[in-house]
Amino acid sequence: MAVDGSNMAHAVIETAVKERTRLQTGRSRATTLVVLVLLAGLGLFLALVVGKADPTTPPDCDGKTMARSDECRIWSNHGGGGTFGYDEMIDRRESGKGVWQVVGFVGTGLSVVLMGVAITKLDPKRPWGKPVEAVCPRCHQPTLREKLTVHTISRGRTNYRYSGIVTLCTPVCGFTGVRQR
Ligand SMILES: [Zn+2]
Repeated sequence: MAVDGSNMAHAVIETAVKERTRLQTGRSRATTLVVLVLLAGLGLFLALVVGKADPTTPPDCDGKTMARSDECRIWSNHGGGGTFGYDEMIDRRESGKGVWQVVGFVGTGLSVVLMGVAITKLDPKRPWGKPVEAVCPRCHQPTLREKLTVHTISRGRTNYRYSGIVTLCTPVCGFTGVRQR
């Protein structure tokens, strides 16, 4: 399918207009915060539930709960096999959990930091784009703002990216323009 240049210019402008609407209605911020809250929750789950230290529960050997006097024989092609006592099996179980605590707490911390960034950067009161010096050619007001915008189209496995600096006037005026970087 041939790609028409003016259609693409139009698509990039449409993307910018949608982005401005999502920003100003607060929908961008709401969606981002929901995702980040879920990620923070997942992090806490990994750190506190999956990674919870549990040194007293009896260990399993091949699906069966071990008694103090049992030994567990583990066959492994990758090393780490052998015969292990009750306490050694507890150590094996517990030693893997530290990783989940680190992953979980780091994930939660990052999510909280990103929430702070999203709250300020995606504030609906924050205007879209940067102000332009020139006045609008249609309404002659100094209300133009511009922003580099990327429009992506997927065809099969290939992603086509079209980018340009989009200039928008107020929705009331409706002037739009796009130029190459
Ligand atoms: Zn205008």
